[in-house]
Amino acid sequence: MTELLISAFIKNKDDLKNHKVRQAYGTMGGAVGIFCNILLFAGKLTAGILTGAISITADAFNNLSDAASSIITLVGFRMAGRPADKNHPFGHGRIEYISGLLVSLAILLMGFELLKSSADKIFRPEDIVFRPVSIGILIVSILVKFWMSAFNKKVGNLIDSEAMKATATDSLSDCIATTAVLGGMLIFKFAGINVDGYVGILVAGFVMWAGFGAAKDTLSPLLGTAPDVELVEDIQNEVLDNELIVGVHDIIVHDYGPGRRMISLHAEVPYNVDILEAHDVIDNIEYHLMHKFNCDATIHMDPVVTDDEETNEARMMVEKIVKECGPELSIHDFRMVEGKTHNNLIFDLVVPYECDQEVGDITTYIRKEIRRHRENYFAVIKVDRSYI
Ligand SMILES: [Zn+2]
Ligand SMILES: [Zn+2]
Repeated sequence: MTELLISAFIKNKDDLKNHKVRQAYGTMGGAVGIFCNILLFAGKLTAGILTGAISITADAFNNLSDAASSIITLVGFRMAGRPADKNHPFGHGRIEYISGLLVSLAILLMGFELLKSSADKIFRPEDIVFRPVSIGILIVSILVKFWMSAFNKKVGNLIDSEAMKATATDSLSDCIATTAVLGGMLIFKFAGINVDGYVGILVAGFVMWAGFGAAKDTLSPLLGTAPDVELVEDIQNEVLDNELIVGVHDIIVHDYGPGRRMISLHAEVPYNVDILEAHDVIDNIEYHLMHKFNCDATIHMDPVVTDDEETNEARMMVEKIVKECGPELSIHDFRMVEGKTHNNLIFDLVVPYECDQEVGDITTYIRKEIRRHRENYFAVIKVDRSYI
């Protein structure tokens, strides 16, 4: 069946590296999801009305919420692809996250309504009617969701899509929910016990859990997350590949959605190279980054003194003190300004968020240690929090 769908709807189905082909797979997956879920919703809503069971109705809305998510993903994908314009020079990539957030809020609200109705059925039970056709609908529904799980897993692995693999897992958990509903109906039929309200609460819990997870997934990229470690390493390697560059720091990656990245970083160059030559190298690196990572890149040049004995010694001393204070700490942009009575050591100190010491305590310690080693050295420290 999966093979049949792929052959029927996807041209050049083996050209998986092609962006357009991958997009076609994604669209087909979404369309199959919407079609199946709306059918399941209609079937279960009918069964819910026929039997009067809130658990079946809740399960129907569980499938409707899946259909809504798929629709938003497809529409959001289209809107996010709209090119940048005068009012939105960063493009429209984040629409995908915003639409996802709206849908997850709607799902949460729906889950809460189902929870309320189910609780109501526990305190004021109403008669439910056993209908063989509703059992048939539930069994078919479980089978369809099993197939959807396998389908999404297969296509998800084929095009390596996290979203489709997540849908596969979600379909499996829907199987469990529907099995519980089926079990509740069978208990009613054969033991004469009405557990409809309790099963309804269970299904409402499923719906709310899914909504909560989806909200979390879309909120993070909206607030801005740290970039992938591999991406940062790739950027560093690309920049350091140039002989002139002796160090990189202060990398910031802004992500405005797929294909809309802005990168800025500081590149350290020896203080005595020709400024025109250095600028030329920097421009070339910006150009390379732009093409390799499909981004805008801005590089700030930091001159470093590499051939002064006293500066080198002072920097090594400060680096040692900083590492003693905390192995996760690092410094950059080190300069020494010599004066009549004392020398100023000016540098930036990077304190990562995972460091549990107080920033004030760290700087006080470093200042004190530096003065203990060399009485005429003053530390001028600027504290950076890491963006990577
Ligand atoms: Zn710098
Ligand atoms: Zn320039």
